[in-house]
Amino acid sequence: MRETRETIGVIGGGQMGSGIAQLAAVSGFDVWLHDSDSGALQRASEGIGAALRKLVSKGKLSELASTDALNRLRCTSDLEDFRHADVIIEAIIESEDVKKKLFSDLDKLVKPSAILASNTSSISITRLASATRRPAQVIGMHFMNPPPVMKLIEIVRGADTSEVVFSKIKALAERFGKTVICSNDYPGFIVNRILMPMINEAFHALYTGVATKEDIDTGMKLGTNHPMGPLELADFIGLDVCLSIMKVLLQGLGDSRYSPCPLLVQYVDAGRLGRKKGIGVYSYK
Ligand code: NAD
Repeated sequence: MRETRETIGVIGGGQMGSGIAQLAAVSGFDVWLHDSDSGALQRASEGIGAALRKLVSKGKLSELASTDALNRLRCTSDLEDFRHADVIIEAIIESEDVKKKLFSDLDKLVKPSAILASNTSSISITRLASATRRPAQVIGMHFMNPPPVMKLIEIVRGADTSEVVFSKIKALAERFGKTVICSNDYPGFIVNRILMPMINEAFHALYTGVATKEDIDTGMKLGTNHPMGPLELADFIGLDVCLSIMKVLLQGLGDSRYSPCPLLVQYVDAGRLGRKKGIGVYSYK
């Protein structure tokens, strides 16, 4: 990547997309942020402003750098604004059909040299790429939550991702100050292949009455030195996202041990999606 003023488009202004847009703006890029829901876009814009003010008040970012970042960040309800983006990072709902439709639309809209990156937690990059006429320029760029804080980006090569595109995205991740790991394109990649079955098992422990939610989380925090317990972490990630990933693991790996726990399914059915809804395994109201 050139050193300055490249344009990054971020699609989806939820917890991940807003964090990615903030990180890209603070890292010196021009950023367009889009969400199909105008309320979500408004919340993303306000959330980024508040996060930057907090960084300034803690002395972690200068006032000037914060103002510069905000000046480089533009929110838009019109995908046409992505025409000149160099890299587009998709962070919309974890649904293969919805992501494929978006990739197909973007392919027709953005410039031929643009790279289409997906922040998917588990969906096949190869299949997303198949919705475009540029599979060599489609790649997985899996940020961790929250993107401005977590040190890791997992890069996933689809079957046809070119080495040039891989190198550019690796350089971009490093410019964001992240450590890169590389995964081949299998369900859940590295991190969620291991993390989600553990979270699902924690739901089974709760479901079958092994222990209380508090004791399950305390057990894993103090017993295995995890900073958050698995149920607390599931609420942080979003129970809908966890359920979608388990379904991808089940379908892609074809083994019933990846079946989502009925309690996880029931919470999602009830709209108990975790912190973002104020209630999940725990209540945040
Ligand atoms: P979220 O529900 O907080 O945000 C998703 C946003 O996408 C919403 O604001 C929604 O309005 C928007 N959206 C949905 N369809 C759209 C479309 N067609 N066009 C434009 N915007 C659309 O979800 P999230 O937690 O930010 O997850 C987003 C992606 O990031 C998913 O693929 C998820 O698997 C992945 N991810 C999530 C986490 C996590 O911890 N939550 C971590 C890494 C990756």
